[in-house]
Amino acid sequence: MANVLKVKCGVCGSRCFIRRSDFLSDGFARIYITCTNPQCCQSEVYNFERSHVVKTSKLSKDRLLEDVISLLSEQDKQQLKKMIEAV
Ligand SMILES: [Zn+2]
Repeated sequence: MANVLKVKCGVCGSRCFIRRSDFLSDGFARIYITCTNPQCCQSEVYNFERSHVVKTSKLSKDRLLEDVISLLSEQDKQQLKKMIEAV
């Protein structure tokens, strides 16, 4: 499994847990965290924002191909199939 979001307390450096996530728009959330150190219990809010795409999702590519193929005529689909088989 991939890494998960880990947040350290801004006061004592202990790990924090996410209490609440408010997704305010696509790609932006406000994350409410609380320190796990019982002697600290600092609570903070982080703005969590998507910056950019590093690698396009395979799902997006498949969906894009499906959309393009659905627009082709049967003749174009057969021609495309021949082109793919020739590669
Ligand atoms: Zn703390």
